Amino acid sequence: MAVTEQTSESFLDELRSWLEENWDPDLTLAEWWERLGLSGWCSPTLPTNAYGKGMSRSDANRVGRTIAEFGAVGAPGGLGLLLAAPTIATHGTQEQIDLYVREIVTGQKAWCQLFSEPGAGSDLAGLTTKAELDGEEWIVNGQKVWTSLGQTADMGMLIARTNPDAPKHQGITWMSCDMHQDGVELRPLIEMTGHAMFNEVFLTDARVPDSAVIGGVNNGWAATNTTLANERAGLGAGGGSGGSGLTPGTIGDMLDKRAGDWAPDPAKAKTGGQGPRQRAGSSMMEDLARSMGKNTDPTIRQDLVRLHIMNRLGQMNGERVKAAKLSGKDIPGMANISKLAMSDLVRLNRDLGLRIVGAAGTLHGYTAEQTAALNEATGNPMLAFVTGGALYAQAPPIYGGTDQIQKNIIGERVLGLPKEPGDFKTTPFSELPKNA
Ligand SMILES: Cc1cc2nc3c(=O)[nH]c(=O)nc-3n(C[C@H](O)[C@H](O)[C@H](O)COP(=O)(O)OP(=O)(O)OC[C@H]3O[C@@H](n4cnc5c(N)ncnc54)[C@H](O)[C@@H]3O)c2cc1C
Repeated sequence: MAVTEQTSESFLDELRSWLEENWDPDLTLAEWWERLGLSGWCSPTLPTNAYGKGMSRSDANRVGRTIAEFGAVGAPGGLGLLLAAPTIATHGTQEQIDLYVREIVTGQKAWCQLFSEPGAGSDLAGLTTKAELDGEEWIVNGQKVWTSLGQTADMGMLIARTNPDAPKHQGITWMSCDMHQDGVELRPLIEMTGHAMFNEVFLTDARVPDSAVIGGVNNGWAATNTTLANERAGLGAGGGSGGSGLTPGTIGDMLDKRAGDWAPDPAKAKTGGQGPRQRAGSSMMEDLARSMGKNTDPTIRQDLVRLHIMNRLGQMNGERVKAAKLSGKDIPGMANISKLAMSDLVRLNRDLGLRIVGAAGTLHGYTAEQTAALNEATGNPMLAFVTGGALYAQAPPIYGGTDQIQKNIIGERVLGLPKEPGDFKTTPFSELPKNA
């Protein structure tokens, strides 16, 4: 443990010296992200041949926090860093890494995840979007759904069926799909939060060069599992990356902005070593209870303590994973457990927040004007934080694999319980019964 701490301090010192030399608020975001991305500090969990430093996730979180505490803009936001970069770093060739991962860590391109379909969510390997080779290009036809951040994506992590005669997990290919083409049409879906974070995506004779296949034709299930594992681990409790949250890519309209105008306030970033999710989860809820005089209610106090304990468990699990990795081991199922813990955390946040604000929690401002009017009427400037969080709380238990699916995985792959019956492992996909 002591050795880990010493190593940790030395890499943070190295980072601070690098920031002293390189952070310049007058750079554009594109220029700053180019420096940060090529230095390896943007996404330190990536391997060294993929613009990273091969660090553990919890050390990488400390890197993110240190950048914020220094007052510099952190890594680009979005799904490129979280999902596409680690997948391509694991399954791509060096040439593909130098093309796609470089564009991601330097913020040049934003990505979305073209996985789910109307008939394939939990049963992702049941997807029917097909890709057929035509010379040097794949022609793609089908529909994707729930595509988060598709509006600002330059590239898509596309999985498509390339061999319908193989068993369903064996005929899938993972491809990097250019979203700027006529064959890709997006239709936004408005959620109950009032935002349209995700979209339907229609692929009609969309084209993907054969050179954009990651991990081999018909071998996409392995790459898909890497994407999903990173999604679970990255989104699980304690997984706050400390990135900037700013939109990268050519559509986001951020690249030519002055970096200093988007830099975090170092004082606010110093939060006693907790990531943004943890801050939102515990101390903000404590502040809310205190400001509304509810911190003397014993049942609310009890839930505040539960929230605090769940946050600490998330952090400690992160430390356990780090310690296991340092000794060359893994903790089976930890990514699934973390994601389940995050679902519990958002549900507790939702329920506790709504109990603290009381009847006002039935009101939500969908626009800045409505929010301002509600704040004035209720005298509670944190109402939108509570109601917005409550409306969004349904999402984390679903995305990245639902709670039930996480439990199935733990049951089958960790506890060794019997798998679901069926001959889908050997039957050609084309002969399997399909959803209507
Ligand atoms: C906010 C949000 C963002 C998302 N972003 C993206 C994105 O960017 N890209 C993308 O590709 N997808 C995205 N998704 C889709 C997400 O991955 C799917 O919604 C999820 O995998 C579930 O699939 P489904 O909606 O088709 O539900 P279904 O698979 O139809 O499941 C319906 C219900 O049945 C249960 N169920 C299904 N199968 C089993 C089983 N074998 N055992 C037990 N219970 C089962 C499920 O747990 C669920 O409760 C997003 C979803 C949300 C909510």
